[in-house]
Amino acid sequence: MRVTLVVPCFNEVEVLARFHDAVSRELKATSEPYEIIYVDDGSRDGTLDAILGIAAADHAVRYLSFSRNFGKESAMLAGLRHAGGDAVILMDADLQHPPELISRMLELHARGFDQVVAKRTRAGVPAGQRIAARTYYWLINRWADVELVDGVGDFRLISRRAVDGLLKLEEYNRFSKGLFAWIGFESVVFEYENVQRETGKSRWTFRKLFEYGLDGLLSFNNKPLRVAIYFGLGLTAIAVLYAIWVVGVAATQGVKMPGYVTLIAAIVGLGGIQMVMLGVIGEYIGRIYYETKHRPHYLIKESNLTPPGVVIGGAATSTYKLESRDQNRLDRLDRTD
Ligand code: UDP
Ligand code: MG
Repeated sequence: MRVTLVVPCFNEVEVLARFHDAVSRELKATSEPYEIIYVDDGSRDGTLDAILGIAAADHAVRYLSFSRNFGKESAMLAGLRHAGGDAVILMDADLQHPPELISRMLELHARGFDQVVAKRTRAGVPAGQRIAARTYYWLINRWADVELVDGVGDFRLISRRAVDGLLKLEEYNRFSKGLFAWIGFESVVFEYENVQRETGKSRWTFRKLFEYGLDGLLSFNNKPLRVAIYFGLGLTAIAVLYAIWVVGVAATQGVKMPGYVTLIAAIVGLGGIQMVMLGVIGEYIGRIYYETKHRPHYLIKESNLTPPGVVIGGAATSTYKLESRDQNRLDRLDRTD
């Protein structure tokens, strides 16, 4: 069985060498043939040079480098597309995903599981974040069409057929957590102790997390649109009842002073609801807009990839690609001069 490790990297120069040593040790210990695909997601800190150094010294390393930062989802997609292994392991470069778990994953995969998922505990995470996460997952699991589990991220082993399934989902807005759940197959989840990031800092800001959360809510269902319909129906019913009551009062007791406050409250309240609903509709339209453009998920600047599944851990890859890579590097040197 061949194993492919897919590693998205964005500004990870500080840990990359250590990461590579650690995972190589683990992979060699399993005595399965393997390859490691490093996907440089447009790093600006010399990550690519570090990868080039690693690739020159280790034939099991393949890499590709994006023309700019396209995001982790795109980086994972690129890695999966080029993975030649019978089992593919997705792993972060920042050593937050313990390399020791690789053998455990392979063991579980050998027992027939198509997705082996490492679930981190929330140890060491501030209480506020923990509560926010729990609320979010409670909410999303009531809404979304797929089930998402708290603490389950992208650290997982995926079998060949599950990878092929994932690659059939070609949507532009990729929400991996949902996609993994959508494809199904036999899955098993095991827990590991959460590891704090050693160097650098997480790319997640509060805003990004919030937007990611919205993505999750919107990517896998159209229930927010339903909510608009329910709201509309409810309000219409209330308005009809209110009108009947007003007419009834006017007929029996004559017209009284109009309620100014009620009027303003109704206008502002309804205006707010309409804005929110328009926003929800706009979100979906925005998604449709991006999907219809059919843009690629990423552009590759350079790589040493052969067609997937050709050489694994073998001799150096085809030379024309190496040449174009060197040319690329020369160009870059020219520009900095
Ligand atoms: N990453 C990436 N592109 C990005 C942001 C992150 O490829 O635009 C990679 C990053 O190098 C790391 C992994 O995705 O290997 C997880 O990123 P990070 O540690 O920032 O996220 P967290 O662990 O906090 O969820
Ligand atoms: Mg991390």
